[in-house]
Amino acid sequence: MLKTGSVDIAIVGGGMVGMATALGLAKAGFQVAVVDRARPEAPSGEPDLRVSAINRASERWLRELGAWQRLPTERLGPYGAMAVWDKDSLGKIGFDAADLNEPNLGHIIENRAIAHALWQAAKDQPGLTQYISAPKAMALGEREAWLTLEDDTLLSARLLVAADGAHSWVREQAKVPLVFRDYGHHALVATIRTQRPHDQVARQVFLPDGPLALLPLADPHQCSIVWSSPPKQAEALSQCDAARFGQQLTVATDTRLGSLTLDSERAVFPLTMRYARDFVRPRLALMGDAAHTIHPLAGQGVNLGFGDSQTLVEVLSQAKERDPGDLKLLNRYGRARKAAAQEMLAAMDGFRWLFAGNNPVKKGIRDLGLNLVDHAAPLKKRLLSHALGLGLQSHVSWNR
Ligand SMILES: Cc1cc2nc3c(=O)[nH]c(=O)nc-3n(C[C@H](O)[C@H](O)[C@H](O)COP(=O)(O)OP(=O)(O)OC[C@H]3O[C@@H](n4cnc5c(N)ncnc54)[C@H](O)[C@@H]3O)c2cc1C
Repeated sequence: MLKTGSVDIAIVGGGMVGMATALGLAKAGFQVAVVDRARPEAPSGEPDLRVSAINRASERWLRELGAWQRLPTERLGPYGAMAVWDKDSLGKIGFDAADLNEPNLGHIIENRAIAHALWQAAKDQPGLTQYISAPKAMALGEREAWLTLEDDTLLSARLLVAADGAHSWVREQAKVPLVFRDYGHHALVATIRTQRPHDQVARQVFLPDGPLALLPLADPHQCSIVWSSPPKQAEALSQCDAARFGQQLTVATDTRLGSLTLDSERAVFPLTMRYARDFVRPRLALMGDAAHTIHPLAGQGVNLGFGDSQTLVEVLSQAKERDPGDLKLLNRYGRARKAAAQEMLAAMDGFRWLFAGNNPVKKGIRDLGLNLVDHAAPLKKRLLSHALGLGLQSHVSWNR
C-alpha cells in the first residue's frame, strides 16, 4: 500500500550532520522527515575505529540540540593541549587550553556515539519523523520536492536536504557538479595502546610522506590514530604484522609515548577533496560531506558539517514566514557555507604543501615558522580560537 507524507523539510542522511539539522529544524517548529538506511548502534565495548575531534563550537551546537547531554561521558576523550611537530626539522608548536582560559580544546568522540546521541534526542522530538529506508527516486518541482522511498513511501517537502555523505545519491540525482582532487593519501585508522599515558594531549607529527595524528581516548593509555600516507605505504602499513606496525609507529612518533602497540583492526580510507559547485538549488540544499570533504589532518570535516547544520537552521528559522525552498533564502546559507568550506580547503592545501617532502626551503620555513608562531602568544591565541571554532565570524548575509 502506498504511504504518503508531507513535511516542510525532508533530509536524506541521518548521520551526524543530517540528524543535527533535523533536530535543529524540528526544534524551530518545522515539520521534518529524515531518511536513513540504518539506525546508529549504541557504542559499547572497545572504542570504534571512526572517531572525530569535536571542537567547542560543535559541542555548543550539540548541547543546544540536547544531544551532548546524552553522550556517555565515560567514552569521551577530552584533550587539554595539542603538540605538533615536524619530523624532519626542529619545528614544533604547542597549544594549551589554559592560554584561552578554556577547560579543554575539544573531545575525541566515536562517530557512532554522536550519531546515536542525536537519534536518541530525535526520538522525543515533536515534528520529527524518522524513516529507515533509502530513496529510490526524487524530483525537484517548482513548489515542492518529492522522494519515493524503497518501501514505497511518497514524501513531499518544500525543501530537500542532501546530508547523505561523500557519495551523495541526492547530489548525483540533482546533477550538481563536483570539483574533486585525489589528495594522494590514504588514511589508516586504528586504536593503539601507549606505554606512557597520553595526558589528554592530542599529538600530530608531520612525517615526510604525510601527517600522523594520535588522538587521546578516555583510557589514559589508548589513542586513536590517523596515519595519512601514499596509498602503497598505507597498504603496507595495514598488512604488516602487528609487532612490526607497533615498531614503525613508535619510531614515527619519536617514542614520545614510549612503545606503542596495536589494539584493534586497521582500516584504510582513500582521501579525496570534494567540493560541490552549488551548495543550493531551488528546493535543494547540500551539507556536510555531501557538500565538501577535506583532508583529516586538522580534524575539521564534521565540525565544518555542524557549522553547515547550524547555519541552515539559523537562516530558515529567522525567516519562518518564507518558503524554506526559496532560492533567494537558501542563498544566504549557500554563500556563508561555501566561504567557510573554501577557507578550510585552502588552509588544508597550505598545510599539505608546507609539510610535504624534504625541500630545504620548506624545511627552513617549517623550522623557523613553527617556532616563531610558538613564541607569538597573540597569533597562537587566534589560531587556537579558530581551531575551537570560536573565532569564526558568521558569514551569513541577511540581504534579502
Ligand atoms: C580518517 C578520517 C578521520 C576524520 N577525522 C575527523 C576529525 O577528527 N574531526 C572532524 O571534524 N572530522 C573528521 N573526519 C571527517 C568526518 O568523518 C566527516 O566529515 C563526517 O563523518 C561527515 O558526516 P556526514 O553526516 O556529513 O556524513 P556521513 O557520516 O557519511 O553520514 C551520511 C549518512 O547518510 C546515510 N546515507 C547515505 N546514503 C544514503 C541513501 N542513499 N539513503 C539513505 N541514507 C543514506 C548514511 O547511512 C549515513 O548515516 C574524518 C574523516 C576521515 C576519513
